[in-house]
Amino acid sequence: MTNQVNMDIINKVFKNHKDKKIFVATKEHNTNSTKENKAPWDVKKNCFLTWSNEEKLLDLNELNKWIPEFHPGCGFITGITTNDSNGSPYPSVQCLDFDDVLKDGEPKNPKIDDLLNRLDTYTEISASDKGLHAVILSDYKGPEWGFDDKTFCKGKYYSKDHFIKLTGVVYKNFNKSIEYVNERNVRILKERIGNIVNLPKVSTQSNFSGPFKSWRKILEDCGIPYTDTNYTNQVRVYEDSKTKLCVESLKIECPNTENHTQLSNPYESAHKAILCRWEDGTSSLTCNHNACSPDKKPNLLQMLWDQIHYKENYKKLKMAGWIK
Ligand SMILES: [Zn+2]
Repeated sequence: MTNQVNMDIINKVFKNHKDKKIFVATKEHNTNSTKENKAPWDVKKNCFLTWSNEEKLLDLNELNKWIPEFHPGCGFITGITTNDSNGSPYPSVQCLDFDDVLKDGEPKNPKIDDLLNRLDTYTEISASDKGLHAVILSDYKGPEWGFDDKTFCKGKYYSKDHFIKLTGVVYKNFNKSIEYVNERNVRILKERIGNIVNLPKVSTQSNFSGPFKSWRKILEDCGIPYTDTNYTNQVRVYEDSKTKLCVESLKIECPNTENHTQLSNPYESAHKAILCRWEDGTSSLTCNHNACSPDKKPNLLQMLWDQIHYKENYKKLKMAGWIK
């Protein structure tokens, strides 16, 4: 944990925004509360302010003047819009706030670096040493949103009224200027990392009433290969002699093959899973590999949806020119 702010970096990164009153000096309240206890600090009067105090906002020059003397923390408020000298609105500073994504300075999931490479914007390590802040400029005015580790990391997108504490500790080589991301690309970004949060939880032996589109169409649209099986239109009989008609059945690569021990079974068929849609609208994805046995409870359908969304969004990002 560090409370020291590297003002050299902050000054460099925010140099085009130094006249904007978006910065706040903060201090920690001395409370035993485990909740967030930092508050805006009035550097001139030496007292705490509330977040609604207009006078909490400083420009970069003011911040520089006071920071060395008082060593409080500082940061910026997301979403404050200003006008340029001609009166046209300027995009606001917004932030992707990744929580608990680093271990010993490395991302727990390499997809975070992929995403940051595409964003190519100033990114710093948060005061906890475990989080990241990717700072962008945007006109996006939609709702803020959260993403969780069912996607590939936890975090939030802050577009308005949130205080982001700055450290000036640059993450890897993201010592960049703050990049502009247009509204459309923010929405693509959202789909890329936030969309899956709202999907229902499904189990291996699944109950998921899908938005149906056939599986065939879903897989084709995102480029996941499949073959037909002969279960389609067959009736499955359960122990209690209830029956269920299989309306669609396809064989795909098991989305959990990463956890299959390849050596223990070299046959390709050992890494295939059967995807079925039943007459009641539920789907199931079953793999006979040990790694996917029900007691291990891998969520195969969720894994498949992760794959589908990853591929779909990869396609969209490519179309939008985010990936070469
Ligand atoms: Zn499997």
